Amino acid sequence: MPDLADKVIAITGASSGIGEETAAHLARRGARLVLGARREDRLTAVVDAITAEGGTATGVVVDVGRREDLQRLTDTAVDRYGRLDVLVSNAGTMAVSPFDDLRQDDWDAMVATHITGLLNGIGAALPVFRRQGCGHFVNVASTAAYVVTSPMAVYAATKTAVKVLTEGLRQESGPDLRVTLVSPGFTDTEGVGKGTDPEIAADLIRRRDEIAMPPSAVASAITYAIEQPEGVDIGEIVLRSTAQG
Ligand code: NDP
Repeated sequence: MPDLADKVIAITGASSGIGEETAAHLARRGARLVLGARREDRLTAVVDAITAEGGTATGVVVDVGRREDLQRLTDTAVDRYGRLDVLVSNAGTMAVSPFDDLRQDDWDAMVATHITGLLNGIGAALPVFRRQGCGHFVNVASTAAYVVTSPMAVYAATKTAVKVLTEGLRQESGPDLRVTLVSPGFTDTEGVGKGTDPEIAADLIRRRDEIAMPPSAVASAITYAIEQPEGVDIGEIVLRSTAQG
């Protein structure tokens, strides 16, 4: 009997990388998934792969910066499966560059995705969790929330905000909810090369290829937090490859 057979889990940023791998892990344990991201083709491919393996997943095109999109994601879970047990807020963008580059659209995107996106998820899922009398927020930050290195200040600041919001949410959550922060170090995903500064992106890709851990390591950490018994709250997991130091 799969151990997560009764769980309905929504994941943002599920079209690639850590989110895609986490979806695959959770589906193999029997969870029913509602997966959100902007790229419909990639999302459809993830849903199809899970379904082909016998899992249960639905894709919803969402931009986490839009409140109504997160509402649609959680509504889909409740309409289709009758409940929502876990929201994994994983969507993110590693658009790092020095301040002097003035890539202000990238700054805006990181604020919108990491901070507004997380708040939109909380706003959509919290009323459902309160109604049910149970629920679990899993928020993906980064080791950049603990140590600022140049030129990652905006990324690190927004990930620090994820950490702070998660702790505040945990303090207000009461005995019925669980709140988990997962902070990965360098992880081998396409996200590392997505910045709009080509030199920085190339540097990060080089570093990723030298020291990154596989996304399955992060998926396992998220799965570990979710599969604990209801009364057990894994507050924080920080993980990095031994090579990252
Ligand atoms: P990917 O780029 O592979 O995944 C990012 C996911 O977020 C994609 O599915 C992307 O899908 C989605 N996404 C981005 N912006 C939005 C948005 N506005 N609305 C909805 N979905 C969005 O990178 P990772 O898997 O590496 O990143 C996942 C998380 O892990 C991020 O929060 C990242 O900051 C964090 N992280 C990653 C590390 C790494 O080294 N890789 C290290 C530490 C933390 P789409 O473009 O289709 O919308």
